[in-house]
Amino acid sequence: MNDLASASTSALELTSAAAFRGPLVLEARGLSKDFRLAHGLRRDLLSAARDVSFGLYRSATVALVGESGSGKSTLARLLAGQERPTSGQILLDGRAVQPSVRRQFRAYKRDVQMVFQDPFASLNPVHRVRYHLERPWRIHHSRQSGASVKAGLEQLMTRAQLAPPELYLDKFPHELSGGERQRVAIARALAAGPRVLLADEPVSMLDVSIRLEVMGLLDDLRSRLQLAVLYITHDIASARYFSDEILVMYAGQIVERGPAEDLTLTPAHPYTQLLVASAPDPQSPMGIARGAAPLSTLAGSSLPAVGCRFSHRCPYADQQCRTQTPALLPISSSRAASCWHLDVAAPELLAAGLRGRVPP
Ligand code: SF4
Repeated sequence: MNDLASASTSALELTSAAAFRGPLVLEARGLSKDFRLAHGLRRDLLSAARDVSFGLYRSATVALVGESGSGKSTLARLLAGQERPTSGQILLDGRAVQPSVRRQFRAYKRDVQMVFQDPFASLNPVHRVRYHLERPWRIHHSRQSGASVKAGLEQLMTRAQLAPPELYLDKFPHELSGGERQRVAIARALAAGPRVLLADEPVSMLDVSIRLEVMGLLDDLRSRLQLAVLYITHDIASARYFSDEILVMYAGQIVERGPAEDLTLTPAHPYTQLLVASAPDPQSPMGIARGAAPLSTLAGSSLPAVGCRFSHRCPYADQQCRTQTPALLPISSSRAASCWHLDVAAPELLAAGLRGRVPP
């Protein structure tokens, strides 16, 4: 990564659309994560996340959108404390999170809970629903009596819309539908009383017919419990409807960000345009994808080692794109994109007045 790109992302000053809902709770500041891959005697460095900065705000949902392999789940694991960043910081309520300070890190893990993609794998098949909820509840409410624990579990079940609770508490995971299992997983995440919920593709393995219900449940919990939600998805259409701000991630980097509706109606970055054009939503604004081919026809080849990481798939790529990395720079007070040629890729936005762009 060149100096321009690394400096600009962390220095980016934007007003997040999610900030209008409530105060900043969790912040990723310049997060990077590298993995060393062994190929026989050769060691390669895989950069899964590069200099990623964004905030999660109380009562708001921020969507992290990108295809598989873009680094979304790595970011979620970093924020959940399951992986250590190679560089960068995570801040909760403005204070840097330090895994080495055990007490603080335990409190952080209570505040930041995760809902996983696969409800079939995330519940232990040999234990009943009651066990999955009672265990975290007792850990986080150690002084409660039996009656209070019972009331707590019933409240969790009701919040996850599994009613009446006694119908579900003594069932095994295999006796539940996929949607019911994901509701149990959501209830388990709520048992800790979190303030931040990281939902990693929470509906992608569910039947289409119940995805909307589960997304509606997450949205309802966001509002009622004032949760700061990170919604990770490959589906930009659902991100548009369920989030305040969208961050588009490609090859470990945020390539565009902005208010959800604004970004999906007028995508600036060619990759965002491809995502919008490929969205399986009949209501999606297909007409705005200028010259974009479907994702499936362009995907596949390996990433360029220098320049824009999207250049091998981009219809507008030129020599500059192949040699210089574009920085993430503001388009407006709430939007930013990393592309050398927004004048060609998104001329309407340019006409509306790009601000803060570095001339090529
Ligand atoms: Fe395409 Fe160039 Fe923009 Fe990258 S910098 S997205 S290759 S136009």
